[in-house]
Amino acid sequence: MADEVETGESTLSELELSELVELLRSLIRIKTVNPPGDEILAARYLEQVLADEGLRPTVVEPFPGRGSILARVHGDGTGGDPLLLLSHLDVVPAEPAGWTHDPFAGDLADGYVWGRGAIDMKSMVAMEVQVMRRLARATRAAGRDPASDPIPGLRRDVIFCSSADEEAGGWHGADWLVNEHPDWLKAAGALNEAGGIAMSYGGVRFYPIQVAEKGFVVYKLHVKGRWGHGSVPTPDNAAVLAAQIVARLAKPGQARLTEAMSVSLARAVPHLVAHGSGATSALLRLAARFRPGAIDAGVRRLHDPVMARTISAVIHDTVSVGIIRAGVKYNVIPGTAYIEIDCRTLPGTDEPAMRAELRRRIGEELWARLEIECEQVGPSVSAPLDGPLYPLLEQVLRDHDAAAVPLPFLAPFATDAKHLARIGVPTYGFSPLKTGRDDGLLALMHGDDERVGVEALRFGLPVLWDAVRRFCA
Ligand SMILES: [Zn+2]
Repeated sequence: MADEVETGESTLSELELSELVELLRSLIRIKTVNPPGDEILAARYLEQVLADEGLRPTVVEPFPGRGSILARVHGDGTGGDPLLLLSHLDVVPAEPAGWTHDPFAGDLADGYVWGRGAIDMKSMVAMEVQVMRRLARATRAAGRDPASDPIPGLRRDVIFCSSADEEAGGWHGADWLVNEHPDWLKAAGALNEAGGIAMSYGGVRFYPIQVAEKGFVVYKLHVKGRWGHGSVPTPDNAAVLAAQIVARLAKPGQARLTEAMSVSLARAVPHLVAHGSGATSALLRLAARFRPGAIDAGVRRLHDPVMARTISAVIHDTVSVGIIRAGVKYNVIPGTAYIEIDCRTLPGTDEPAMRAELRRRIGEELWARLEIECEQVGPSVSAPLDGPLYPLLEQVLRDHDAAAVPLPFLAPFATDAKHLARIGVPTYGFSPLKTGRDDGLLALMHGDDERVGVEALRFGLPVLWDAVRRFCA
C-alpha cells in the first residue's frame, strides 16, 4: 500500500465533486461575518466532518466565539518538515439588497455556488478539508488509524489549519496560534489564499501565485493651524493645510520593481507577444519603461483599468487617505485638523523609509505643521521562488492546464502569511480555481454576487491534491 497516495487519482468523480460542493454550501450557510466572526460555529462543524473520517482535530477558542481548527495527518517522517494547508473561516459582511441570491443560503444555481465566502475563501477551506478526507480515507483503506498512524505513501505530515479573524488582521486567529502554539504550525511551507486563480489577460491564461505581500503602516497626522474668525481668512487654517497635505500625499512616489514583479513581467511579455494580443503593446511599453519616471505613463496606457490600478499598487509604496477631519462651525477657522492614512509598503520599505517618503511628498514647510503618530505596522513578506515548493506549484498548474502561464505575484494586501512569516514558514497563495471567460472572480471577492463555478472546483481540487501529493509523497 506504500504507493497509495503517490498514485491517488488526480481527477475528481462526480460523487466527490458533489461532496465538495455540499461541503462548501454548508460552510457558506454558517454565518461567520467578521465582525463579530463567530468562527467557532464553522470550526465545530468541520471538527465533526473530520472526526467522521477518523481524524482527531483540535478546536481552539481563545476569545469568545473566535474559533480556529487544526488537524494533522502523519507522514513517515523521512520527507522533512510538514506542509501546512492554511485558510480562514471568517468572511466580510454582505448586504443582501445587492445580491441575486441570499449571500448566506449557499444556493447552487446556473453552475455556481453563490454566497459570501465562495471565493474568499470557503472554497479553499472546503478543498483543503477534502484533501484531508482523501488522506484519511486512504489510511483507513489500508487498515490504519488516520489520526495516529503514518498515511501510506506520505513522507511529510500535512497540517490543516483554518483560523478566525483573517479579515480583521488575524489577531484572534493566526496571530494567536503563532504566539501560543508555534509548534502546531511549524512547516516547510504553507498554501494559502490569494493565488493560483486563473486570470485571462490579452488572450493568455495567467495563474498568479502569491509569493509576497505588501506590508502596511497606518499613520495619524495632527495638523496644527491657528483658530480664528471666519470673517478674516488666514493661510493658517488647519483645514486648508490638511487639504494641501492630502493633495501632495495623493501623488504617487517613485516606482520600484521587486523580485516577484520583475520575474512576472519578464515571463508575461513573451506570452503576450506570441499571442499577438491587443494588450501586448501596452504591456511591452510597460516592460520597456521600467525606469523611474517613465513607468507610470506605461501603466496608464494599459487598456484594462483594474489591471492598471493593480500593477500600479504593486510597484509603488502607496498612500491612501482614509479620514480627514477639521472644523467645528462655519465661521470658526479651524486651528487643528486630523488625517489618517493607510500606507502599503513594498518588500524593502520599512517604517522609517515610509515616513521619510511621506516627508518628501509633503515637503518641509508643511511637514513642520504636523505631528505624525504611527498607529500600526505590519511588515511585508516574501517567500522564495527557488525553494522546493514554488517551482512544484507552477508545474502542477501546467500539468493540469496545458495553456496555463503561472507567474509569481506580489499581493497589494496582507493575509495571514504575515503571521506565519514570524515563525519562518514561507507562505504561497495557491487556492487553485480555473475560471470561465466572464467569471471576473477577483472582482467578486468582497463584492456582491460572490460565487464560484462548480467547474472551477472540479479543476481546483485535483490541482491542490497533486501539489500536496508531490510535495509530501
Ligand atoms: Zn481571504
